[in-house]
Amino acid sequence: MPPPATQLDAFIVGGGIAGLLTLDALHRRGCRVWLLERNALGSGQTIWSQGIIHGGLKYALGGEAGEAARAVSNMPARWSAMLNGQSDPNLSAVHMRANACAVWATSGMRSIAGLLGAQFTLRTKPTPWPVDSLPEALAGVRTKILQIAEPVLEPMSLLSVLGSMHHNRVLLGDISSITPTDECINVELTGGLRIRAGKLILTAGAGNASLRSMADLPADREQTRPLQMILARGPLPVLNGHCIRSTQPWLTITTVAGDSETRVWQIGGQVAERGAEMTSAATIQAAVQNVRAAMPNLSLEGTEWSTYLAPRSEYATGQGGRPDRHGLIEDDRIITAWPTKLALAPLLADDIAHRISANSGSLEVPADMARPTTATPPWQEDRVWTPVHSAAPA
Ligand SMILES: Cc1cc2nc3c(=O)[nH]c(=O)nc-3n(C[C@H](O)[C@H](O)[C@H](O)COP(=O)(O)OP(=O)(O)OC[C@H]3O[C@@H](n4cnc5c(N)ncnc54)[C@H](O)[C@@H]3O)c2cc1C
Repeated sequence: MPPPATQLDAFIVGGGIAGLLTLDALHRRGCRVWLLERNALGSGQTIWSQGIIHGGLKYALGGEAGEAARAVSNMPARWSAMLNGQSDPNLSAVHMRANACAVWATSGMRSIAGLLGAQFTLRTKPTPWPVDSLPEALAGVRTKILQIAEPVLEPMSLLSVLGSMHHNRVLLGDISSITPTDECINVELTGGLRIRAGKLILTAGAGNASLRSMADLPADREQTRPLQMILARGPLPVLNGHCIRSTQPWLTITTVAGDSETRVWQIGGQVAERGAEMTSAATIQAAVQNVRAAMPNLSLEGTEWSTYLAPRSEYATGQGGRPDRHGLIEDDRIITAWPTKLALAPLLADDIAHRISANSGSLEVPADMARPTTATPPWQEDRVWTPVHSAAPA
């Protein structure tokens, strides 16, 4: 006789930011809910991300005041309340990279006009960066330097805080079958554990498509937008911010905490979008040239550079463009969800929580079952680093 199935109100598959915040929201509503992760928590987009809680700069630069801009404009305040411990989940133990981002434009009328336009469109207006505390990297920048209320958090710390908070509701494993019935969803894990859930919630990022196929649902509801992110390490100053060129965040730079000799910069923005169609060497060369142009007084002496491919998995917009907000598909008892941005994950969790009314109380994963660890960030993995003088001679 197989062991009896574990009865849950909801079973979440995928432990990135979407799954973890959904787990938190459902648990607080009194649901009997578990989360399954097959690798390490956040392995995929959440650990690759820069941790910026966007407030709409990208949309404001393009002059958009629509759905996308409205959806993100409240997110810095919502996250700040969680990060300050003033609302649930209490994320006050999460390490912060910065409380605000710098914004400046490359010289050129279009870039400066784009930045000026954004100042009018943004809900929370950027303010001039106080001259006595300008980021060291921006010495010598001739255009205005602004401060924008976009907190930057450390994604690995975020995953680890949420993972520890819900340690007793998270398990490591893989699904071997999904069988919907009229009353419930039956899920079997490799190893034989059986779950009988009221709802199955798929927050597996790039893994959603194959899970949907396993449940006989169409697997064409998601899209992938590629990025080749750039890493620089060495004697770099702390910088978190966006350099604007031609109404686009051309360079979005975040700094991983570390001492002054071993800091790591993660560089995204247009340079990483374009990099997706280029080799790693060509992407590094373009990034170094862009950094030199954006920060004329910054020395890159002693730095080393690398890249990582980081496709974004989102619900399909039809035209392949950036989705406006989070995406959610409800196929009877199966919900498939994509947050689109880490910043938007709390809205996705609210949306899912409102669709599930249950109060069976909590149930802990048995202590002898394996639990996932937290994913390792790209700069801590084995990779090739190229010294700046061979990547792009000055
Ligand atoms: C390079 C990059 C930078 C970004 N920067 C930002 C930023 O600064 N600010 C921002 O707001 N957004 C940013 N984003 C977007 C943001 O990272 C994503 O929208 C968000 O992290 C997606 O979270 P997720 O939980 O849906 O997916 P993921 O983080 O990809 O998590 C999915 C999880 O599901 C697991 N999984 C997959 N298949 C299975 C399976 N069959 N069974 C069990 N588990 C499974 C995976 O192992 C993984 O842990 C960035 C994205 C990228 C790629």
